[in-house]
Amino acid sequence: MPQFDYVIIGSGLGGLLCAYTLTKEGNSVCVLEKNRQIGGNLQIFVRDKAIFDTGIHYIGGLDKGQNLNQYFRYFGLMDKLKLKKLDEDCFDVVSFDQDEKEYPYAMGYERFSEKLIEQFPSEKEAIQKYCSKLKEISNFSPLYNLRYSEQSFFNTEYLSVNAKEYIESITSDVILQNVLAGTNPLYAGVGEKTPLYVHGLIINSYIESAYKCIGGGAQIATILTKSIKEMGVKSGIIRK
Ligand SMILES: Cc1cc2nc3c(=O)[nH]c(=O)nc-3n(C[C@H](O)[C@H](O)[C@H](O)COP(=O)(O)OP(=O)(O)OC[C@H]3O[C@@H](n4cnc5c(N)ncnc54)[C@H](O)[C@@H]3O)c2cc1C
Repeated sequence: MPQFDYVIIGSGLGGLLCAYTLTKEGNSVCVLEKNRQIGGNLQIFVRDKAIFDTGIHYIGGLDKGQNLNQYFRYFGLMDKLKLKKLDEDCFDVVSFDQDEKEYPYAMGYERFSEKLIEQFPSEKEAIQKYCSKLKEISNFSPLYNLRYSEQSFFNTEYLSVNAKEYIESITSDVILQNVLAGTNPLYAGVGEKTPLYVHGLIINSYIESAYKCIGGGAQIATILTKSIKEMGVKSGIIRK
């Protein structure tokens, strides 16, 4: 029976990144996966020759100097992934039943707020306040910025205020509230529960930049698995 320093249950992004880090630090690691395909929410499926992502549809913060770019470089992903930058004027769009209008999310805070102000001219102040808050939250978080700090993210207002309450506090325009919360399926946001920091850190990274994996997100799992095997002769993945 082979012996490993660490056994990781699940080959999703979390499991693979742990395995990569531990292997890089000289440990032998075994990742156990209950499914036939590795990757968890990185898995893709194909219908009529079209590739569909199950989880990761697009990735934020991958431009040079942005936070996920730093993480992805550490994990040896940046120069191997096939990426395409999404439309800077509309990387995502929020729409509602019985409303003909579409509400684009644009990349870069200036463009993001300009586009929204075009649609909600009387809400300029609220939109600017929202953007400032997202930047403030993201700058505050040490882990998000790979920065050492004695200051804890816990016990701050970002954890005690929930995202829905915050959005409602800056604008009474219900459509704008829904537009600002409109991409919450990306992080399974729940109105009464999801804290402001979860919303803030995630949406900030997409506003900074948004990329799609050409051919689907499964390549992240494939690249990580290959790198893990190459780095550690004893590390590997066992799947069903
Ligand atoms: C619908 C949806 C859309 C999303 N869109 C985006 C997006 O556009 N951009 C983005 O950045 N993120 C997105 N996400 C989030 C992202 O996909 C996840 O945060 C990330 O993939 C989660 O990785 P994980 O390792 O934590 O979990 P998972 O991906 O769930 O991996 C867990 C793995 O563990 C395995 N497992 C579980 N139990 C066992 C067991 N007992 N034994 C062995 N194996 C086990 C599972 O089979 C699975 O492979 C989305 C998520 C969802 C659900």
